Amino acid sequence: MYLKRLHIQGFKSFADKTKIEFKKGITGIVGPNGSGKSNVSDAIRWVLGEQSIKTLRGNKMEDVIFSGTDKRKPLGYAEVTIVFDNKDGTIPIEYSEVSVTRRMFRSGESEYYINKNACRLKDIKELFMDTGVGKDGYSIIGQGRVDEILSTKSEDRRHIFEEAAGIVKYKTRKEESEKKLQKTEENLVRINDIVFELE
Ligand code: ATP
Repeated sequence: MYLKRLHIQGFKSFADKTKIEFKKGITGIVGPNGSGKSNVSDAIRWVLGEQSIKTLRGNKMEDVIFSGTDKRKPLGYAEVTIVFDNKDGTIPIEYSEVSVTRRMFRSGESEYYINKNACRLKDIKELFMDTGVGKDGYSIIGQGRVDEILSTKSEDRRHIFEEAAGIVKYKTRKEESEKKLQKTEENLVRINDIVFELE
């Protein structure tokens, strides 16, 4: 699996439809200060479901939408599509190319799509779990992240190794099942109470 393409429109400084092609191997993005290099990595985080505006270097979620310039009006929505080559089947879906799209309007509503089919954020999170690519994956190492990794609690550091080992998916499912079990047990207690009252 590798990152093939990025389509950005209306996201931060990218007012116009912009397509960035990534070839196999290393791609460097160069440009003067403030030209939008970091906005490219922000776009990748955002399309993969980043919900923290602090991580995206803004104050409110609306800040990711192109806010206009002296010569250009602000735009009403931001849209990013990320395309992966999945010929090796790393992403557990029957497509050799996988695209994920996120669109957000000024009202704050986000729409998500996997290969152009509307989906939930949860579906995107699950799809990329254990691939290292998700918004918390170890494939995005932002400025200061190395220091952060070294200084965080061992519990948090363990999460990175768990993702690399491919067990996050199973841990998440276990947690969901435990929650369901707890709910069922609570329901059983309630039913027993009702039965007791009726007898
Ligand atoms: P440096 O090399 O200094 O780290 P950079 O190339 O990484 O810079 P970015 O931080 O990606 O630059 O981009 C900053 C630019 O993006 C600024 O000019 C800022 O005005 C612009 N920008 C950020 N958010 C928006 C927005 N919502 N609408 C329009 N422009 C925006």
